[in-house]
Amino acid sequence: MRILFTFFILIYCFSSSPWGFFAHKEINYHACFTLPPEMFGFYKTNVDVIRELAVRPDQRRYVVEEESPRHYIDIDFYESKVPLDTLPFYWDSAMFLYGEKVLIDHGIVPWHILKVKYWLTQAMRNHDYSQILELSADLGHYIADAYVPLHTTKNYNGQLTNQHGIHGLWESRLPEVFLSDYDFFLGNAKYIHKPLLSIWMALEESFSAHDTVLNLERE
Ligand SMILES: [Zn+2]
Repeated sequence: MRILFTFFILIYCFSSSPWGFFAHKEINYHACFTLPPEMFGFYKTNVDVIRELAVRPDQRRYVVEEESPRHYIDIDFYESKVPLDTLPFYWDSAMFLYGEKVLIDHGIVPWHILKVKYWLTQAMRNHDYSQILELSADLGHYIADAYVPLHTTKNYNGQLTNQHGIHGLWESRLPEVFLSDYDFFLGNAKYIHKPLLSIWMALEESFSAHDTVLNLERE
């Protein structure tokens, strides 16, 4: 009975993963090949680990209570359109304005990316290789999530517009079907001087596309 129960839990977990396990793995894998020479050797050696660990943050959602809000932010709770100018970019200012509960209830992906980046820097300073791998894979996951238009809206699964299931369609089905058509010539990774600002720019881009995603599916 216990085995059967575990089996169904696993089926449930594997069938409802945001960005799809497949897409997250591909994204982490390809990201490794954009790194500068000083980093590339280490990441190339461990590229399979980075790829496999790409889905760990989604798996954690089912066992760690605090995990879920780290993957999204309901920007439309705060703003109706871009540019984003209502919700403060910095955690402390946003906390001051809305309080921690509101922020957590509506997702904290921008601030969590920054936190993971900080942990990763510490792991690199400490030459903690297993942590470097785990945190790099986590960072790839959360950044990928920030680029998903449906991760920036309350209507994340089309449930408010009778488009149930659009999340899985966009994140799992489409990449699985069209992967061979995607352009993987990504160029080189660039050093980002203001990470939080870049995260918000990515979220602004994602949020500005969420209407299009919903409209195209409806059409
Ligand atoms: Zn996720």
